[in-house]
Amino acid sequence: MASFPRRPPTGIEVIIVGAGFAGVSAAIECHRKGHTPIILEKHTAIEEITRFGDIISFDPNGARHFERWPGVIAAMQKVARQTSWLDLYSWKGEFITRQSFEREKEWGPRINGHRGELYEIILKHAVKRGIEIRLGQRVTDYFEDDNEAGVVVNGEKITADIVVAAEGVRSRGRKIVLGFDDKPKSSGYAVYRSWFPGEEIAKNEMLRHLVDGDHHVGFIGPDLHFLASSLKNGKEFNWVFTHVDDGNIEESWQFPGKVEDCLEYVKDWAPIVQEIVKATPKYGRLIDHKLVFRDPLPTFKSPRERIVLIGDAAHPFLPTSIQGASQSIEDGVVLAACLKLAGKKDVPLAVRAYEELRYERVHKAQATGIKTRDRWHKADWDTVKKNPEAIHLTREAWLLNFDAEADCYARYNDVAARVGAGRPRL
Ligand SMILES: Cc1cc2nc3c(=O)[nH]c(=O)nc-3n(C[C@H](O)[C@H](O)[C@H](O)COP(=O)(O)OP(=O)(O)OC[C@H]3O[C@@H](n4cnc5c(N)ncnc54)[C@H](O)[C@@H]3O)c2cc1C
Repeated sequence: MASFPRRPPTGIEVIIVGAGFAGVSAAIECHRKGHTPIILEKHTAIEEITRFGDIISFDPNGARHFERWPGVIAAMQKVARQTSWLDLYSWKGEFITRQSFEREKEWGPRINGHRGELYEIILKHAVKRGIEIRLGQRVTDYFEDDNEAGVVVNGEKITADIVVAAEGVRSRGRKIVLGFDDKPKSSGYAVYRSWFPGEEIAKNEMLRHLVDGDHHVGFIGPDLHFLASSLKNGKEFNWVFTHVDDGNIEESWQFPGKVEDCLEYVKDWAPIVQEIVKATPKYGRLIDHKLVFRDPLPTFKSPRERIVLIGDAAHPFLPTSIQGASQSIEDGVVLAACLKLAGKKDVPLAVRAYEELRYERVHKAQATGIKTRDRWHKADWDTVKKNPEAIHLTREAWLLNFDAEADCYARYNDVAARVGAGRPRL
């Protein structure tokens, strides 16, 4: 086991349910702060977590935390897309604008890459730290009293000082926290997502330039946007497009996609878009990902304040916010710091402070996804032609130039004093 810088032990035991980005990051941050985390994951093999997904993005506010985990950011940068711009076209194929992300470099790194590859890097880091990750552990219930919290897993009860529900968008922990079962609902949109070798694109003369190095392009049209990018010097390629969908999401929210169905959505679009879709090989990954959404939850914490929601369990994001993964990292950072500052004797205070520090920021960040989607899907092209920046992604400093750890240390005393007596959130 490697040795990494750690704060002195706090004696705080943390059960984390779910080994997604939120759960593993929270465990790493808890370990950094001197707590003792264990992760319980329902999948029986790590490959079941890594084999799903395609492009995932960490903006500077999320990725800056990877810089604090020795070796992680360097490993990520090796597999990440090497672009600091997005070229935007109209759905008819007319070039509109290049949005540069160059100035954001001073805010922190941006990482865009394959979900499974990036995930494996943080998972390996967690393992090197000696964090216990128990696979094949499906949590079926949560419980708490004033002194501890616990979960039921495989018929057995396990307890700790705090339980962190990081189970993703279909979280069961949410029911305990809320006291009712709020079912996920369709956002009215779905995303076709694909990932395959760049050589398939290189075969087509119209597309070859897209795998000559790394690229990032977007085509914007009525109620649909199409993004494509190449990574690893064009060796790998992916495209995604968000489209209107009122599909039933009760049973499942990821289905195998068909090229013919995708083509139907873009049949009036520029030939280059149709050619990209047609280049998708049968052996590649193509899925139809229903965008599950939830209204903002009234709270992220349980009645006795020993069970807490983080990541998608607390706040699913639309992809156009580009913040789902970054906000899930911020959650773990803030929770671990609050636990450190409150100490083992006052875990409920840490939980209250966590919610207070996160609630407003997360919901403001969620709203940016709707803003960008509407800006793209309902673009007024006369306005856009006069002012191409009207279709730039929203990139605001309050969101991206933000250090959740430093902010927590700076504001904790004030926040703890306010919520210390159990006063409700302002
Ligand atoms: C299959 C899949 C593919 C995705 N692909 C992409 C993508 O390509 N691009 C993108 O931007 N975002 C993708 N996302 C979403 C993205 O991973 C999240 O928005 C973000 O990383 C926050 O993750 P999370 O850890 O909160 O939730 P998740 O990533 O959903 O992780 C939750 C974890 O909890 C585990 N779990 C759930 N219930 C239990 C239980 N009862 N007991 C124990 N463990 C449990 C799950 O198996 C899972 O490993 C995907 C999510 C999933 C689940």
